[in-house]
Amino acid sequence: MAKNSRIAGFRNMSVNERRSAVADATGLDAEALAQIDATAFGPEQAANLSENVFGVFSLPLGTATNFTINGTDVLVPMATEEASVIAAASNAARMARPQGGFFTSSTQPIMQAQIQLINVADPHAARSRILEHQDEVIELANAQDPKLVEVGGGVKGLDVRLVDAKSATYVVVHLHVDVRDAMGANAVNTMAEAVSGSLAAIAEGDALLRILTNKADLRLSRARAVFDKDLLGGAEVVDNILHAYELAAADPYRAATHNKGIMNGISAVVLATGNDTRAVEAGAHSHALAEGRYTSLSTFEKDAKGDLVGNLEMPMPVGLVGGATKVHPAARTALQIAEVGTAKDLAEIIVAAGLAQNLAALRVLATEGVQRGHMSLHAKNLAVSAGATAEEATTIVAKLIEEKSFRFDRVQALLAELRSSGQK
Ligand code: NAD
Repeated sequence: MAKNSRIAGFRNMSVNERRSAVADATGLDAEALAQIDATAFGPEQAANLSENVFGVFSLPLGTATNFTINGTDVLVPMATEEASVIAAASNAARMARPQGGFFTSSTQPIMQAQIQLINVADPHAARSRILEHQDEVIELANAQDPKLVEVGGGVKGLDVRLVDAKSATYVVVHLHVDVRDAMGANAVNTMAEAVSGSLAAIAEGDALLRILTNKADLRLSRARAVFDKDLLGGAEVVDNILHAYELAAADPYRAATHNKGIMNGISAVVLATGNDTRAVEAGAHSHALAEGRYTSLSTFEKDAKGDLVGNLEMPMPVGLVGGATKVHPAARTALQIAEVGTAKDLAEIIVAAGLAQNLAALRVLATEGVQRGHMSLHAKNLAVSAGATAEEATTIVAKLIEEKSFRFDRVQALLAELRSSGQK
């Protein structure tokens, strides 16, 4: 079903109205949407996912609007406690729409398992011996996961690295596993365990660590978008965004915050879809250091027409099967909202959200600065913590912005004034 991710007035709707709008846009029924209610995932269900569970910790779940990805409109589910993240992604996606939105691509979904071999007398010769036997090692690994092989995945190759460490040269075998629609950690760890004995015998050493690497540099997804110069605020804004980007490219202190902005979008979608935020974060940070110097994950340029072009390429180990993706009811609904058919689709939506988030942050920093927006959100928090209702908070926030004062005693005074004047 073709759907429009531009939902007019979405941010001004009530929660129930937003839910109806999401149902209209996605065709999801009330039963599917009820799965995002706190009652659908109580402590009993939560106890199936973790240990020592005695409760459930809830977070806001929203959807970014305005996204078009490879010509199809998409609602992007995001779970985050941080104010302004979802609004910023939606705003940036709006500025990419005139030029077609986001365009994405990915490598094959190859995850790597590492098997560390110790006590090897002749590491170079051991490497050669393992490569001579690679076909049988691959066959043994694939025999562990017939389901994965059946859906077109499995071990596609093997690499042997010699790692010079403090006390020894370790022989480290990498299995390159196509994990299809899985995140793949359990799948590749099982294979690594299964082949470790044979590898140790071939190397004439002992196997120690057998686990995936989160430096998932063979499983990359990319997003590209052209952000309209006029919607951004004009040529000077484009130039200032480029200065902001260049500082991130050159300076690790700025790059860390620049990449944090990207991760605001990435982690929110990863979390909403029941995927492993730490795995994606570990992959991102190792990728930011891929050239040996910590730098920006994204790049920005100006095209021939003076519009701003953003690119983001990074590891994206996420799945639609396994982990919490199928167990957490809200994650299942989030995947239905995003209408993804494969892990590749999901990975590309996530990278598009990261690029949008990145652009939104750069634009604010290169124009008005972050504080204006943050202070109005801060003002709302102040009003609510002073006991204001949502309606009262709106009036108080408007007044605080007008007065440019964000003091708690002023909030209390305004609330008292409002109530004594009989206004709500
Ligand atoms: P999993 O083992 O639950 O699911 C993957 C399995 O599903 C495959 O092995 C395959 O047998 C089956 N499958 C069915 N249909 C498939 C399809 N279309 N494509 C691919 N596989 C299909 O989960 P997983 O993805 O291997 O592991 C993910 C979990 O591992 C996450 O919960 C993650 O947090 C956890 N984990 C992460 C790390 C780490 O990142 N360092 C370490 C250990 C565990």
